[in-house]
Amino acid sequence: MFSHVDGYLRHIMADCTGKRSGNVADYIPELAAVDPDGYGLSLCVHDGHMYSHGDSSVEFTIQSISKPLTYAMAISRLGNAMVDEKIGVEPSGEAFNEISVDDRRRPKNPMINAGAILAASLLLPPVTEIDEATVTKVFGEVLDFYSACAGRRLTLDEAVYASEKATGSRNRAIGYMLDSFGALDTNPDAALDLYYRQCSIRVTTDDLAAIGSTIANGGLNPRTGRMVFNQEVAQRLLSVMTTCGMYDGAGDWVTGVGLPAKSGVGGGILAVLPGQLGIGVYSPRLDEHGNSVRGVETCRHLSTDLGLHMFNVTRESRVTIRSVYDLDGVEVSGDWTELERGFLRTCRDRVRVYELQGDLTFAGAESALRRLETDMDDLSVAIVEISRIGVIDPVARTMLLSAKRTLDERGRKAMLVDPDNVVRTSVKRHRNDAIAPNLNVPEDLLGFDPTLPHVHSTMDEAIEDAEAFLLKQQSDA
Ligand code: GLU
Repeated sequence: MFSHVDGYLRHIMADCTGKRSGNVADYIPELAAVDPDGYGLSLCVHDGHMYSHGDSSVEFTIQSISKPLTYAMAISRLGNAMVDEKIGVEPSGEAFNEISVDDRRRPKNPMINAGAILAASLLLPPVTEIDEATVTKVFGEVLDFYSACAGRRLTLDEAVYASEKATGSRNRAIGYMLDSFGALDTNPDAALDLYYRQCSIRVTTDDLAAIGSTIANGGLNPRTGRMVFNQEVAQRLLSVMTTCGMYDGAGDWVTGVGLPAKSGVGGGILAVLPGQLGIGVYSPRLDEHGNSVRGVETCRHLSTDLGLHMFNVTRESRVTIRSVYDLDGVEVSGDWTELERGFLRTCRDRVRVYELQGDLTFAGAESALRRLETDMDDLSVAIVEISRIGVIDPVARTMLLSAKRTLDERGRKAMLVDPDNVVRTSVKRHRNDAIAPNLNVPEDLLGFDPTLPHVHSTMDEAIEDAEAFLLKQQSDA
């Protein structure tokens, strides 16, 4: 029906569309040929619900976003300790394709090419001669794993793969350097072949968001219910994505965006808000680091406007709806005439109470709102009870208030039971220092002045107000 979240995402995309700087990757013809203005955004929340916008079903190659996934496979199979012997976890501060290792001759981390080629090598049998059929078989396992993370069958872009292989001198240099150090237990050409193939897997932003939400959920894909990897692996991925995911701009990224992420030269960015959601963005023009220009800007907006910085909160926001019930078992209040009471008894189920709990952030407000949207046809009055809410984020407050306005517009009534004045306090606190300055929701769009009577301090008051509304609605009819 109505979705405020969709409205916010559209708004953010409209703000970022103008970012046309940067160039598409052109080291192979297939990447140079893409539409430079392509732009997609997807968000997959903790229960698997997907918000998709723009070119969200356009396929592009995953490129370096494959790196955390292959690393996840390697640590799932071999364990952290064994993989740590081979690949470090320190940010390199260097370009992704730098030919460098640490003083133990390990690639500095799995997010640069050296570390990624090594991670791919760990999936292959530890022998010096490997035939193509073996690489194909192992690649099948890689594709299965990526597909399980995305929740659908992914495919290989054969043309990109052929070009990556034909032009990959620098990666070959890295692979052979690792081999010369004795770092590879397998055939370097096979490791490189596997790496080129993994980079050439096609994805959409919906896929990236689903993969992100699988990581956010500790390895459980919320769309398929399948456990793809364990919690320990997810924690490791989030750590390296945080410190090394965005090439040489990691510090800036963590400070400004604060979402563990990985980008690829195909124009994709995968970002994760641990415990809450996954984000996929696609826009192929790249900055000097190889990150999507619009993608970076979009993530920056998502983080700022929706309060998604991972250090914004460490609060419980998933179990937001504590209970939902109607007034069937609640006696009609005594203030009405017998006739009115008779009428009110016939529509107890048109008043629904939503008790929220926890601290209300974007993710919590999103699930509460979605529930309201689903129920809207079945109710006349929604009473939102927030006595167990500690703090309301500016964005969550805006979402709650916009939902109220939408209900009003559709001839419903929304009421708030807020005994501790949480909304009032947060309005005062945030009115001027808006943490979400770019959200640009005009005050009147909120349609809600918290000093007006539909904010009640007790449930009894709210029920009486609801009854008055139902009676008025009936007499107007
Ligand atoms: N296939 C590219 C390479 O290895 C991927 C680079 C990237 O996405 O950063 O050079």
